[in-house]
Amino acid sequence: MIVVMKCEASISQVSAVIKGIEELGFKAHPSKGAERTIIGVIGSNRTVSLEALSDLPGVEQIVHIAKPFKLVNREFKPADTVISINGVTIGGLEAVVMAGPCAVESRDQLLKAAHAVKDAGAKILRGGAFKPRTSPYDFQGLGESGLELLAEARKETGLAVVTEVMTPSDVSLVASYADILQVGARNMQNYSLLEAVGRAGRPVLLKRGMMSTIEELLMSAEYIFSAGNSEVMVCERGIRTFERYTRNTLDISAIPVIKKYSHLPVIVDPSHSTGDRAFVRSASCAAIAAGADGLIVEVHPSPETALCDGPQSLRIPEFAEMMTQLEAIAAAIGRRIGK
Ligand code: PEP
Ligand code: MN
Repeated sequence: MIVVMKCEASISQVSAVIKGIEELGFKAHPSKGAERTIIGVIGSNRTVSLEALSDLPGVEQIVHIAKPFKLVNREFKPADTVISINGVTIGGLEAVVMAGPCAVESRDQLLKAAHAVKDAGAKILRGGAFKPRTSPYDFQGLGESGLELLAEARKETGLAVVTEVMTPSDVSLVASYADILQVGARNMQNYSLLEAVGRAGRPVLLKRGMMSTIEELLMSAEYIFSAGNSEVMVCERGIRTFERYTRNTLDISAIPVIKKYSHLPVIVDPSHSTGDRAFVRSASCAAIAAGADGLIVEVHPSPETALCDGPQSLRIPEFAEMMTQLEAIAAAIGRRIGK
């Protein structure tokens, strides 16, 4: 349910409604829009009726939200969520490119990649220090020393940093280095991790599980919101289908669908969705044309020697060329991207 307040409702009327909601045993989540305040009513007590709230002064109407996700629902908050990180705005007019290697491997590799992606117009540096690998024998990431290198690259370039956190016990460590906490596809339904990043006080990039529906993705975002963090962007990174000529299948329609049903920024990962650098540019162009709020792209100074995901990593000149093309596509739909 949401309680829609009248445009002219006073602060004390809003407070009285919040108190009324809490007295009935529910949680109240007020959201102040440009014109009016709406208050999300969260809780599972079906025996209590909220109808009495409609008689309180300042209440315009009570609306039932049919979908199971409430706080991330566009009905609850009609305006797009916009997240600001070190002067970069995600979810606004500009589509934001996050780029860098799959994994932080060395100081030289990371700094080369960071300077190159910045010069080409990326605004955020990606790089994994804790890597979720299918095989326990593969490179697992540099851990905290990888986070230190990311912090050094941020200092040198001014780029904000997005990096993955894999377990609840690492959240405060990763949050002490990262500007954005990434929750990977394999952890999309790790509910204790979702609650931990919900309490971390950092924006979250939540990736869609490879076998998850859009509704399940939005329910996971709802976990982060309900733990107190409303700075969440979701990421379409391809889902598993019968197709084998790409690593996953990029669900382009997820972009308008998520934007219809929720107010969250949508980021697209053209690298893990295609699994092959030959297809990354087409997937990126399609994502920006379809209204994505940003991309997260793997770029490596020498993909042949990469310890992780070399075949899908763009070479630096390829990334720079792609950015030029994306500028034209963004301009065609009234947005900006890049430098
Ligand atoms: C990544 O972005 O580093 C990653 C592991 O991606 P995903 O979780 O989408 O597989
Ligand atoms: Mn990768």
